[in-house]
Amino acid sequence: MVDTVRLVTEPWVLDLDGVIWLGNEPIPGSADAVRRLQANGAPVLFVTNMSRLTEAEQEAKLAGHGIDAGGSVLTSAMAAGRLIEPGERVLVIGGPGIDEAVGKRGGLVVRTHPAEAVIVGIDPTFDYDELSRAMTAVRGGARLIGTNHDPTYPTAEGLRPGGGAIVAAIAAAAETEPVFAGKPNIVAADLVRSQLGDAGLMVGDRPDSDGLFATVLGYEFGLVLSGVTKAADLPVEPTPAVVADDLASLVSTRLG
Ligand SMILES: [Mg+2]
Repeated sequence: MVDTVRLVTEPWVLDLDGVIWLGNEPIPGSADAVRRLQANGAPVLFVTNMSRLTEAEQEAKLAGHGIDAGGSVLTSAMAAGRLIEPGERVLVIGGPGIDEAVGKRGGLVVRTHPAEAVIVGIDPTFDYDELSRAMTAVRGGARLIGTNHDPTYPTAEGLRPGGGAIVAAIAAAAETEPVFAGKPNIVAADLVRSQLGDAGLMVGDRPDSDGLFATVLGYEFGLVLSGVTKAADLPVEPTPAVVADDLASLVSTRLG
């Protein structure tokens, strides 16, 4: 009986791409599995390194997949926002999600130097002019903050450059090292632990991001094979506490 209570209230941290959806395609059974967790009273937090969308946009995308995620989304943009102080001028290379996170922290989004910080995320319109402006700010003393280090991300058309590739270009031009905020970094981990406590299950499809994040959190790692990692890639490091074909089967395994 005691074990049953512990299991149903165990916090779940869910990665999005490769767990809930692949690009825009829903992974069958995942939305039902999330509803089952929520109905069982399990705290559920959605954690993604995608920085472009605002909190409301990310929640709306989840709602479009049949998932109620109100107030339960943590993006790498929100984590990056924790690395600035109120009143600081922040040069943003990225999308509305970063602008929003900076504003919520009381920072001021600027387009050119002077700035106290440069926050960089995925930006499909990134160009030489932005590289130049970011470089000038960092060489002028601004801190270089990356939302995440992911070099690529998967799409239906194949790999595309990720936010980490853009941060790397700016770091090279400025001859400095960036700090990173999203999974698997401590900034995001502190935010998760402040909401869910010191024990839980981190579910994701990437050992190098989600698995490492579970280690930093001190949570168990639940690996799903519905994203970039396939059965042929096993074994992986860090070693998952549990491996499942997808979120639906993982939830069935844990809840019975
Ligand atoms: Mg993923």
